[in-house]
Amino acid sequence: MSFAAPLDVTVLGATGSIGTSTLDVIARHPARYRVHALSANRSRDRLLAQCKTHRPRLAVLDREADADWLREQLADAGVDTEVRAGVEALVEVSAAREVDVVMAAIVGAAGLLPTLAAVRAGKRVLLANKEALVMSGGLFMEEVTRSGATLLPIDSEHNAIYQCLPTEHRGGLARHGVTQLLLTASGGPFRGWDASRLAKVTPEQACAHPNWSMGRKISVDSATLMNKGLELIEACWLFDAHPDQIQVVVHPQSVIHSMAAYNDGSVIAQLGNPDMRTPIAYGLAWPERIESGVQALDLFEVARLDFESPDESAFPCLRLAREAMTAGGTAPAVLNAANEVAVEAFLEGRLGFAGIGELVGRVRDACPVESADELGGILEADERARREAWTRLESR
Ligand code: NAD
Ligand code: MG
Repeated sequence: MSFAAPLDVTVLGATGSIGTSTLDVIARHPARYRVHALSANRSRDRLLAQCKTHRPRLAVLDREADADWLREQLADAGVDTEVRAGVEALVEVSAAREVDVVMAAIVGAAGLLPTLAAVRAGKRVLLANKEALVMSGGLFMEEVTRSGATLLPIDSEHNAIYQCLPTEHRGGLARHGVTQLLLTASGGPFRGWDASRLAKVTPEQACAHPNWSMGRKISVDSATLMNKGLELIEACWLFDAHPDQIQVVVHPQSVIHSMAAYNDGSVIAQLGNPDMRTPIAYGLAWPERIESGVQALDLFEVARLDFESPDESAFPCLRLAREAMTAGGTAPAVLNAANEVAVEAFLEGRLGFAGIGELVGRVRDACPVESADELGGILEADERARREAWTRLESR
């Protein structure tokens, strides 16, 4: 039991997989956390149910019409949550003075502005929305330093690495005796498949991950290994690492969430059942620990841990991401935007599975790498890449 005042938490993307798990952990600790704001894109029914349970001060939806609907429903139910709509409202609930913690769990580029607003306001930012960091890495990390925000990675791999590194780990890995980060990957549902089998993959197959239950976009990214590519870029920014210092290790059991190797020969790993409530609880309670609802790990049940190298010829997205990080500037933003369009087209049945990496590669070749020092340039690169991707899709 904690006797300090409860922390006010904003959950961006509350109705998604990470958002729901976050509210599950928060509900286990009513004396520690109070929900300031919840946001959703279109899923107004789910947001209504969450408002009834968690009684936030504010709720934000994308469209005015949905906000009007939610306002009425909440009034009928006697819940006095204020309802707003649009990106400006998202930015406000992320930066509001009374907010202590922001869970950034919107999927894709749509999360960039509110996440950056939370960083600029010096909040404790729990970062699930990896796309925001991939798009704006240098600028994002500069803002963290300038504002004094506490940035805690929620992506399970980065959360694991964070736990395996010394508390103060900025300024380059070598300074802390770290020789390599070992980023584990489950390999997704199509591990070991060859090109001819991959060509026939359906959205339903791609969204059925063997170990993790997640939103549809990240599920497809896990199947193409683009998720691991985005995570490689994410790790470079979070831990001041060069792409060469990060080794991707396929580990099908998803029990080791990632590792840090040191110059004395030590390799430190973080293990646990694959359940996002562990990194979420870590972020919420940091630097303390709280109960998360995750089952204890039974090593006898796990029995064995396997490791193999990723197949970059069948899954080219990992290579494309590494190349984008090495190219620097707006290259990661272009990669991310092209991938978001490609995944959407794949989920709509307009593009085959192998077409995702192909389209990302073509858009990359069509977009020059520009400086990513300013937000305006990053957003322009994102828009241009989306246009290039849609044009290519429509001309097929
Ligand atoms: P999800 O699709 O389940 O949920 C996304 C949430 O964002 C929903 O609340 C949705 O309403 C909201 N949203 C979507 N588009 C929006 C828009 N344009 N504007 C405002 N809100 C919008 O996704 P998820 O699986 O919870 O993933 C969220 C983020 O966390 C992603 O960046 C993902 O890569 C990352 N992540 C997820 C997991 C996981 O296990 N699910 C693990 C690691 C990292
Ligand atoms: Mg991950």
